[in-house]
Amino acid sequence: MDSERILTKLRSEGYEISAEYEGSDVVIVNTCGFIDSAKEESFNAIKEAMNENGKVIVTGCLGVDEGVVREVAPDVLAVTGPQQYEQVVGEVHKAAPQPHEPYVHLVPPAGLKLTPRHFSYLKISEGCNHRCKFCIIPSLRGDLVSRPIRAVLREAEKLVEAGTQELMIISQDTSAYGLDLKHQTETWKDREIRAHMTDLADALGDLDVWVRLHYVYPYPHVDDVIPLMAEGKILPYLDIPFQHASPNVLRAMRRPANDAKVLERIKKWRGICPEIVIRSTFIVGFPGETEHDFQYLLDWLQEAQLDRVGCFKYEPVEGAAANELADPVPEDVKQERWERFMAVSQEISAAKLKARVGLEMAVLIDDVDDEGGAIGRTYADAPEIDGQVHLSGAEGLSPGDMVMAHIDDSDDYDLYASVVHEEEDEWDW
Ligand code: SF4
Repeated sequence: MDSERILTKLRSEGYEISAEYEGSDVVIVNTCGFIDSAKEESFNAIKEAMNENGKVIVTGCLGVDEGVVREVAPDVLAVTGPQQYEQVVGEVHKAAPQPHEPYVHLVPPAGLKLTPRHFSYLKISEGCNHRCKFCIIPSLRGDLVSRPIRAVLREAEKLVEAGTQELMIISQDTSAYGLDLKHQTETWKDREIRAHMTDLADALGDLDVWVRLHYVYPYPHVDDVIPLMAEGKILPYLDIPFQHASPNVLRAMRRPANDAKVLERIKKWRGICPEIVIRSTFIVGFPGETEHDFQYLLDWLQEAQLDRVGCFKYEPVEGAAANELADPVPEDVKQERWERFMAVSQEISAAKLKARVGLEMAVLIDDVDDEGGAIGRTYADAPEIDGQVHLSGAEGLSPGDMVMAHIDDSDDYDLYASVVHEEEDEWDW
């Protein structure tokens, strides 16, 4: 991720990285300007860094508009935009002259990671060719630019060598990976491999760690990764940001891969790989969404029985085309729809988790306490966004260990389990 790249580069040059304001020569604030609440948070972070330290470099999405940042904090040392790693490093050189010798050996083999060692985000592309009306990512990050497949696979290998047990594949549009490279073929371990989501998933599957696909749009070729899940090569987990189901709203949002037959396809996927877990996010209260559209979404969700679901009330984003749309939905209606949506998704989640009680499942440990308890996840849960497994009998375990656990109980979003034994086949699910 962006912060990690900057930190890795600075560490490789001999800089010490500190999480404290006090004593630091310079503070880097990596901002997000996607929605207004994230923007607010970024502005607060800049103000706090100015108060606490005073030598601040701002980077990330908000850096696209230096004027806005300088209105809030006129004295920041520099403002750089997203993906401008070199500029950030250059500004650090100016603010805190480089230590004499670069201690390259101080960099761990997979770079400095902000996530715990046992799971890693693997970014396969930047930018997006779509123009969804509520989104400003294309104007901040530009059109799709995919990383060459060998570079992605090399990074994945390094991460696994450094102890990563789980790779989260991220981008703005994972299904579109390689489109800009015309799915160029490269040689990888004596075989020809295309810059294409299916080939990538297949090759990552050979690394024998959990591989989880995020931000997948349901283009037809998504059908080709389902057999890889059924074979156990990658996790049977698909994160598809559907955002809505009503054809009217999807059209108004200008969503990609807006496929009316998606329910049939989900059924087909479950036929091929019954364990598949589908996570998604939705927006309620998009301008012009009628009660009929919303009810269509609820009925669709009941039928689709998605396992993990997040829901947001539509919020205007500065610079987004959706701001010009007619018929805004009043706040109280948005709130009421959000509550109805969450009630349905909670019921589905609770029923799905209840069905797991009594099973034995592989659990990857994220955190342990001093009293034999631990927090972990099964294949069905991505870190930071999905549910957790609360484990007992976890004495002697460490983050990154894989255990078999008996599922004893469940609630709306989490599982409760006891450790049966340590998993021998570490990457199995
Ligand atoms: S697919 Fe749509 S929502 Fe996602 S990054 Fe592209 S424009 Fe934004």
